Amino acid sequence: MNEIVTEPEERRHGMHRIDASTAESTETAISCSDLVRIYSGEGVEVQALQGLNLQVSRGELVAIIGASGSGKSTLLGILSGLDKPTAGRANVAGRDLLSLTRKQRLDYRRHVVGFIWQQTERNLLPYLTARENVMMAISLAGAPNGSARSAELLDLLEIGHLSDRVPSQLSGGEQQRVAIAVSLANEPHVLLADEPTGELDDATSAEVLEVMRSVNRELGVTTLIVTHDPAVSEHVRRTVLIRDGRTSTEVFRSHGDDGEHSVAEEFTVIDRSGRLQLPAEYVSRLQLRDRVRLELEQTHVRVSPAQSPVPPPVPPPERPWTPPAGSSVPPPERAQRVGGPGTEEETS
Ligand code: ADP
Ligand code: MG
Repeated sequence: MNEIVTEPEERRHGMHRIDASTAESTETAISCSDLVRIYSGEGVEVQALQGLNLQVSRGELVAIIGASGSGKSTLLGILSGLDKPTAGRANVAGRDLLSLTRKQRLDYRRHVVGFIWQQTERNLLPYLTARENVMMAISLAGAPNGSARSAELLDLLEIGHLSDRVPSQLSGGEQQRVAIAVSLANEPHVLLADEPTGELDDATSAEVLEVMRSVNRELGVTTLIVTHDPAVSEHVRRTVLIRDGRTSTEVFRSHGDDGEHSVAEEFTVIDRSGRLQLPAEYVSRLQLRDRVRLELEQTHVRVSPAQSPVPPPVPPPERPWTPPAGSSVPPPERAQRVGGPGTEEETS
């Protein structure tokens, strides 16, 4: 069938809300609309974000996956308040990131967001113990009871027994757990992690991701993990794919009827203006280019090529073979015929 049928997602499921386009509500923790970031320098412009749309609900754990250079760190730089977009809108926990004053931006970084970076050395001070690193972050955030709270956080991350070690006495996975404790020190509304498992082996990565998942569940902190590693999607319910500085498709994972195996469903993102990106595979399969035909049906939208693709050659109609009158020639090898119904049966 040479068409793609798109139908409202709620109609099929009646449960997920992946409305990437609607106005923020108090339930929305992160909202980016048509976000653009252009780096310019030495006469060259790089469009790192090209109209990115993303909505993350409060308490959600979301992975953003994309190839190197797709704009992931640029997005996190903006969400963390370190960088400003060229155009578009970005709102985190009710703050409009484009209109923050210097003072508000500092307050935002101190009290609203927590970060975890890929490079473990960027997360921790090497000459402080795990406990001291967490206590220092708590005191920078101006929170009381540093000692009790740091013990609580290190216990939550299952590294309470390693509190007195400095980073060089900890494995990569343990260092990232301390980094997660540090990132939670200011009781952030939103936790942002840039390739938090990028320097870990597969088994340790899986452990750290499970720890992040349990922190998300227990503390209810909205968590965004960006990574180039597709395996991360196995640890989260919602994965958003980023391609060329835009979100393209989303995968939702839910547990199947047996409660053990997860079922993944893929969706495409539609922005506020109604634009959506078709998966590259669909485009090439149906040879879609330049323009497509759209038809609004009662429950879905049909997308088909503007021109019908060249149809495959039709095999000649079958006629029963009849020998010429008075001849004893046997029938020709029928297997030489190409295609047509019943070919398989006849060749066997
Ligand atoms: P990712 O984290 O997905 O690998 P980045 O957000 O780091 O991608 O980069 C997106 C694009 O922007 C890349 O082409 C990168 O080279 C470019 N870029 C990133 N930071 C800068 C910068 N400070 N100046 C110029 N170009 C940059
Ligand atoms: Mg990056």
